[in-house]
Amino acid sequence: MADKTTLVILAAGFAARLEPRTLNFPKHLLSLGKEVLMDLLLDSLKGVRKEFGRTVLITNEKYYPHFRKWAATSPWDIEVYSDGVRRKEDKLGAVGDLIYVLDRAKIKTDFFACTPDYVMENFDFKNFIRFAKVSSCSATIAKVEPDKGLIKAGSCLKFDKCSKVTHFEEKPKQPFSQYYGIPYYFIKRKDLETIRELPEKLRDNSGQLVKILVEKSQVACRVYEGLSIHLTTERDYQVLVRRFSAPLIVLDFDGTIYDVEKLKHDFRAVSAKYDLEFDSVYRRLSKHKPFSLDLVEKYLKIPQKDKISLIKKYRGLISQGKKYLYPDVVGLINKFPGRVAILTYGDTSFQVEKLIGTGISHLFDKVCITQKEKHLCSDFLAKAKIIVDDSPVNLFNIKKRRCKAKLYFLARNKQKLVPSGIKVIHTLKEIKNVS
Ligand SMILES: [Mg+2]
Repeated sequence: MADKTTLVILAAGFAARLEPRTLNFPKHLLSLGKEVLMDLLLDSLKGVRKEFGRTVLITNEKYYPHFRKWAATSPWDIEVYSDGVRRKEDKLGAVGDLIYVLDRAKIKTDFFACTPDYVMENFDFKNFIRFAKVSSCSATIAKVEPDKGLIKAGSCLKFDKCSKVTHFEEKPKQPFSQYYGIPYYFIKRKDLETIRELPEKLRDNSGQLVKILVEKSQVACRVYEGLSIHLTTERDYQVLVRRFSAPLIVLDFDGTIYDVEKLKHDFRAVSAKYDLEFDSVYRRLSKHKPFSLDLVEKYLKIPQKDKISLIKKYRGLISQGKKYLYPDVVGLINKFPGRVAILTYGDTSFQVEKLIGTGISHLFDKVCITQKEKHLCSDFLAKAKIIVDDSPVNLFNIKKRRCKAKLYFLARNKQKLVPSGIKVIHTLKEIKNVS
């Protein structure tokens, strides 16, 4: 369709601060293990691919052959353009390149301009594109940034109750908010003429585009609170490699890292004080839905006063969750910083409360709480290299799905029936010897 949004990828920078790595090779195509940096952006846009008509990429003359070669193998249909620039002294700047490629590729639609060297780990592009499409004005992304130094070196913005940007500044001497302007822009075609008004000397930083639109038109923004890395220096590159190429270890929660039997034992003792037999309460409440304190609140028929105090006691136990962690867990997680995930079955708020109670939730890269069978979480499991679970049934079902990960049965409770082909470990520390 002629009117579909165009995806514009800005990749014409010379990445001087990453030299010598980038002397003859673009930073956007640097390897992060199996993937290259550009693939991270395209992977995260996979869910909104059908929203885009054309995809155009602008690079410089020096890197053009590399991008052509890469684009030929990409599952995306990407038109690669060169701005003809061979030396960084002659660069057009991010806005200059944007205007150049829009003219050269004769783009007349709204467009989404991306700078792939800004990696946002968990940004919801689907939500953003939908928001931008229904919005009457152009849109950008504001990241909550606690580090003032990063804001000073980048950009800062403020917005009103209707999410309209009211003030934007590149490299502010005094940051006036905690929001950093991420260089991803959904631009309405009506705003293109305003962008053209930017004088050449202000075309280097793409943020100038927001600044002029705030002054002469309108820009809305969406807030992002996750992790972002701007690939500028060798150190940034090392952080990215570590984050995106290290294997993902998926751990089950209950019974694998968290001694849920011990928690039940303590729940039992507390319940007895109210003349309740916890196991029968648990059986009754978890018959149709995963057990949770909300269910206790809703369905348990005891005096309200007792109920409130009982739930408070349960909560007190959960908040001391460190004592329910198996002693070998922290050592293992520290061997895989940032790359350990949790996949757990249960009630979302109950599991979150338990996880937070352990005091180690910040060690997990991702957490997936599911109310369906684990083996059906195929998107999540597809990325795993190692899966550890204390349930042979879970592992057997995952194995049947031809999951590529290595599966380990953690024999916490001396279970005998181990599906064939699944390795048994008795202590998590042994995983480190498995390649
Ligand atoms: Mg379990």
